[in-house]
Amino acid sequence: MATHNIISIAHDNLMTLQAALSGTLLTPDDPGYDAARMNWNVTIDQHPALIVMAEDANDVAQAVRFAAEAGLQVAVKATGHGAVLPADNCLLVVTSNMQGVSIDAANRTATLQAGVQWGPVLEEAQRFGLAPLLGSSPTVGAVGYTLGGGLGWLARKYGLAADSVLAFQVVTPAGELVEASASTNPDLYWALRGGGGNFGVVVAMTIQLYPVTTVYAGNLYYPVSLAREVYTRYREWAANAPWELTSAVVIMNYPPLPQLPEFLRGQTFIQVRGCYAGTVEDGEALLAYWRDWHEPVIDDFKAMPFTDVAQVSNDPVDPMPACHTGGWLHSITDEAIDALVSMVPAQNGPSPVIFAEIRHAGGAIAQAQPGASAFSLRDAAFILECIGVAPTPEAKQGFTQITDALKAGMASALTGGIYLNFASDHDSRQRAQAAFSAEALTRLRLVKAAYDPENRFDHSFNLIS
Ligand SMILES: Cc1cc2nc3c(=O)[nH]c(=O)nc-3n(C[C@H](O)[C@H](O)[C@H](O)COP(=O)(O)OP(=O)(O)OC[C@H]3O[C@@H](n4cnc5c(N)ncnc54)[C@H](O)[C@@H]3O)c2cc1C
Repeated sequence: MATHNIISIAHDNLMTLQAALSGTLLTPDDPGYDAARMNWNVTIDQHPALIVMAEDANDVAQAVRFAAEAGLQVAVKATGHGAVLPADNCLLVVTSNMQGVSIDAANRTATLQAGVQWGPVLEEAQRFGLAPLLGSSPTVGAVGYTLGGGLGWLARKYGLAADSVLAFQVVTPAGELVEASASTNPDLYWALRGGGGNFGVVVAMTIQLYPVTTVYAGNLYYPVSLAREVYTRYREWAANAPWELTSAVVIMNYPPLPQLPEFLRGQTFIQVRGCYAGTVEDGEALLAYWRDWHEPVIDDFKAMPFTDVAQVSNDPVDPMPACHTGGWLHSITDEAIDALVSMVPAQNGPSPVIFAEIRHAGGAIAQAQPGASAFSLRDAAFILECIGVAPTPEAKQGFTQITDALKAGMASALTGGIYLNFASDHDSRQRAQAAFSAEALTRLRLVKAAYDPENRFDHSFNLIS
């Protein structure tokens, strides 16, 4: 598709679009354009031809129809946590002003508008003793997270966020507002649950909520010198874990930043972390496996309100230059442990790899009917996620070198499949197909051809080539 810039779009047409919007149209000359184009992940620096700050579904539909007429591609941003390709020369729909959340406590559902982050959904739902299937960070956008699958601290008990969607309201690439649910446009409903932002703009979604109020959650910090024993023990612990426990083991290279507590600054730990969504007594009993072993440097596992669950991962909130990669594991092999122990801990000074985490999957994730949704790699037992900070091209290269070597060293454990929510630029564009079974990929491409034959929504995961 040809690239366009603002110069080729007549001023009158822009005035007509603005007049049709409740929200704001921004061109590169407008104040507010730079703030609106910024992503949370600042490595994806983008210069859209136009930005529509949408207030409602009509704004989104107007924007998408305008883009079709002007021959522009459409990209979507809620927070910019998951941007994979700069929205250069596109029409960027920013959903961050679409903040409605309504809870139906009797039916245990929530309906959210496109720009809502998980934090406010959790807070609203907890007023009724209910919880959504959010991930580790409450500032991630609920819709973007769910379109990629959505694997959080309740995943083994209740499944993926995508499995809990009852209906989407979608503006299709043709600019029509449609519902996608099990009974209406079921092909689109199937594709949106794991296929990413390839099929239009989701303006709202209705999700199932679950009765979770108190969890037993936290981290055990061990010296990195115990990493090999911790991995081996974790492997055994996870093999016997009930579905109520979603856990992870992570090597953290804490950067030497003044905002971190002194005992973490510039230090490396291996941490066992997780969230037990059963009784506090049973959670304590599960932790005895670790507490009866070496005393951790820090043990902050405790009963906590589910509203505090973000403390488990303590993800960064402020925008940063992030890069990530990972892959599904069928098991934690001895070779994988060797690779993790030898390559991840920072050696001489700060490492571009901030952490390498292995999260436990399975449980309810693997229970969904095969083929029930586009998310199709449900058999893997664990998922690897590596995150780095890449303020410079050299740092990014350093991250890629280490993580490529790590994944090669972990080959005996990796299935070859990837998880799109934990994939960034290269993986999400060149390897996105590896996130799906062959059947799912074929079906996704058919849905894509039916709804977006011109591939106007090509700023998500690349399903086409
Ligand atoms: C700190 C951090 C913690 C994370 N934790 C987890 C976790 O625990 N589990 C997990 O599964 N993932 C996790 N993720 C990954 C996260 O789910 C993805 O990055 C997700 O895409 C972010 O969505 P967003 O809307 O916030 O980001 P955005 O960058 O705004 O959106 C990402 C993409 O989603 C699509 N999209 C967003 N909104 C819409 C819409 N309304 N209609 C159509 N397409 C849309 C677009 O393709 C867009 O490019 C984490 C990411 C970060 C950075």
